[in-house]
Amino acid sequence: MAFKVPRGTQDILPDQTPKWQKIESVLRELARVYRYKEIRTPIFEHTELFHRSVGDTTDIVQKEMYTFEDRGGRSLTLRPEGTASTVRAYVEHKMYGAPEQPVKLSYMGPMFRYERQQAGRYRQFVQFGVEAIGSADPAIDAEIISFAMDIYQTLGLKDLKLVINSLGDKETRDAHRTALINHFKPSIHEFCDDCKNRLEKNPLRILDCKVDREHPLMKTAPKLTDYLTPPSKEYFDQVKKYLDVLGIEYEVDPNLVRGLDYYNHTAFEIMSTAEGFGAITTLCGGGRYNGLVEEIGGPNVPGVGFALSIERLLLALEAEGVELEVEDGLDVYVVALGDEAKLKAVELISSFRLKGISADMDYMMRKMKAQMKSADRLQAKFVVIIGETELEEGAVVVRHMESGNQEKVQINEIVNYLKEHLR
Ligand code: ATP
Ligand code: MG
Repeated sequence: MAFKVPRGTQDILPDQTPKWQKIESVLRELARVYRYKEIRTPIFEHTELFHRSVGDTTDIVQKEMYTFEDRGGRSLTLRPEGTASTVRAYVEHKMYGAPEQPVKLSYMGPMFRYERQQAGRYRQFVQFGVEAIGSADPAIDAEIISFAMDIYQTLGLKDLKLVINSLGDKETRDAHRTALINHFKPSIHEFCDDCKNRLEKNPLRILDCKVDREHPLMKTAPKLTDYLTPPSKEYFDQVKKYLDVLGIEYEVDPNLVRGLDYYNHTAFEIMSTAEGFGAITTLCGGGRYNGLVEEIGGPNVPGVGFALSIERLLLALEAEGVELEVEDGLDVYVVALGDEAKLKAVELISSFRLKGISADMDYMMRKMKAQMKSADRLQAKFVVIIGETELEEGAVVVRHMESGNQEKVQINEIVNYLKEHLR
């Protein structure tokens, strides 16, 4: 029997990895300029962490987690998202005591969710995310949003829509909650079982339901924005003011509720408006989570962040026809003619590599013509040909593949020659 990758996962093959690496390097570079230092946490955590932080009424906790018991009988879960682990590490390492606040962190790595497989939805996917923990300044909400937008714009995407909302503070949520229950209760039998459960536990989640999205009561549901307390409204206004200063366009969507339980105040999503992007248009989601650090056992410290997946970013690039510029070619391919020449070739490519010049040669004992074909296929910028006669003269022939020009170069000059011409 032949093996296949597990459903919802994929192999990223060598012809695709340059694109991934390009995106990863853009993400790392932007994290550097925005000063969000990288944190690396384990791939699995104690299951309880996600129950606590993501929330028991969320899709993630109810049906998407890869939970298992280890040989010591502990319940562990492959991380479905990055904020819980990041905040856990923040509390565990008492980063709230660091002299420089807020603590600004970024992470990148695989996340795992048992989801129905479809375009843009994998069971293992790579998220990049950032968190700013320790500040309740609306300016940092705007910084986070502009960071996220910057990622897509830097990579050349144009068909983007930023949607924001405010989930308000506790008072806002409580008042809204009561209004939601009153709104949905009389007709709750028309909704899915999940929504029936959500009604008493967390009615806000009903607004995020994927099954009952089109139910008429969704459109007429009480809007969070109508329940914002004066300080919440003031906070939201400030965030918008900073976005204006940054020249970032947005749409306010009073029905935007993020998938996780721990959000308050600012919530946002970046969508692709590219034609043919498909049904799932969200590229990035984020927001403020002022109660989360305390929930996980730390002090009462506010936080804000976002997460995006590289898989959906790639889909957006594809939908807009954006080709990333990737460095994929070989600097030099060495063609050796004869056994003596082969010895020299091995020595030469090693000296090229020592100088950071990417180099390769034939290991299939092929004739010159086939070796030249390889050089072409590998998009070598230069081919260095070592023949018996050149060898006697202590020289090689260098061919510039793009122009087809050839010249003889002394062997002891060849590294410098290539370095100069590759620049
Ligand atoms: P959705 O409503 O699409 O299920 P979500 O609310 O579950 O999204 P988040 O938990 O906020 O998503 O994750 C942040 C980002 O991670 C999403 O905007 C999306 O880009 C990406 N993402 C989430 N789930 C997946 C997945 N299964 N495969 C690929 N990317 C994903
Ligand atoms: Mg989801």
